[in-house]
Amino acid sequence: MSVVYLVIPCYNEEKVLPETVKRLTEKLESMAAAGLADPESRILLVDDGSRDATWSLISQYSKENGRVCGIKLAHNRGHQNALLAGLMTAREFADCAVSLDADLQDDVDALDEFVKKFQDGCDIVYGVRKKRDTDTFFKRATALGFYRFMGALGVDVVYNHADYRLMSRRALDALSEYREVNLFLRGLVPLIGFRSDFVYYDRHERFAGDSKYPLKKMIAFAVDGITSFSVKPLRLIFGLGLLTALTSAVGTVWSLIAHFAGGWPAWIAAFWSLWLLGGLLLLGMGVVGTYVGKIYGEVKARPRYLIEEKTGDRL
Ligand code: UDP
Ligand code: MG
Repeated sequence: MSVVYLVIPCYNEEKVLPETVKRLTEKLESMAAAGLADPESRILLVDDGSRDATWSLISQYSKENGRVCGIKLAHNRGHQNALLAGLMTAREFADCAVSLDADLQDDVDALDEFVKKFQDGCDIVYGVRKKRDTDTFFKRATALGFYRFMGALGVDVVYNHADYRLMSRRALDALSEYREVNLFLRGLVPLIGFRSDFVYYDRHERFAGDSKYPLKKMIAFAVDGITSFSVKPLRLIFGLGLLTALTSAVGTVWSLIAHFAGGWPAWIAAFWSLWLLGGLLLLGMGVVGTYVGKIYGEVKARPRYLIEEKTGDRL
């Protein structure tokens, strides 16, 4: 039997925690009964600097329920960093760790299959959503556009896989060697390699509380994913610059001819090319600036998370 840690990042999740803990505890019990999960398996709740009662709930549960343990991050560091904090903590105790969301949108009953694949020798098991009919049209369209765009930029992401995934201790050890600060686990994990497989599941609706991923965070997440894994935008800008330079050279010659032969005022061409070039320059600087900003972040190499407190018996 394997020691399985379920790693759950929680940000202001007081509304869903009671139900989540109940369901996951039952699940671990039934998996233990079925000989899939060792009794030492745990639910590891990571409080990502919540402002509500999340941490007091976690501490309370860890006292009442032997299966629950928790860590509290000193600040809100975002989903990806909270996940990493949990995985890196779990790696010391577990044979494998499964990451899933606190709102249980990811089908808990798929867990058996994850662990079975692990016991069959897989190091990484990706949960893949069958369909997206519980999402709003907007979320579906942006997600699809995002995967397409990432694919076009040459980033290897698993289609329709969020962060519901199992990683063996060996894979987690490998992950710990990646020291980047701009974390995008969905792009990083496929780079690790090892034997991997997929589990297909249906995604449910969030049963309480609101999404902690407003549009602003979604955009930041997408930009992180692209700029952390692809330098194609830089090359694109180079091509665009080349194209404009050529076009404006042609345009200048053409408008000079029109000026002398057809009496066009000379400033017309110059006026438009000014705007065009100005816009392109700003665009290019924006792209370069985004990467420079990332280099700044990586060079500082600040800790990706700080653990303030721990609770539970096996931590
Ligand atoms: N989350 C987090 N820190 C944040 C934002 C979100 O730990 O800053 C957690 C959140 O508690 C949840 C998971 O990340 O467990 C996914 O968030 P959510 O369900 O709100 O995202 P959605 O499913 O709407 O994309
Ligand atoms: Mg959710």
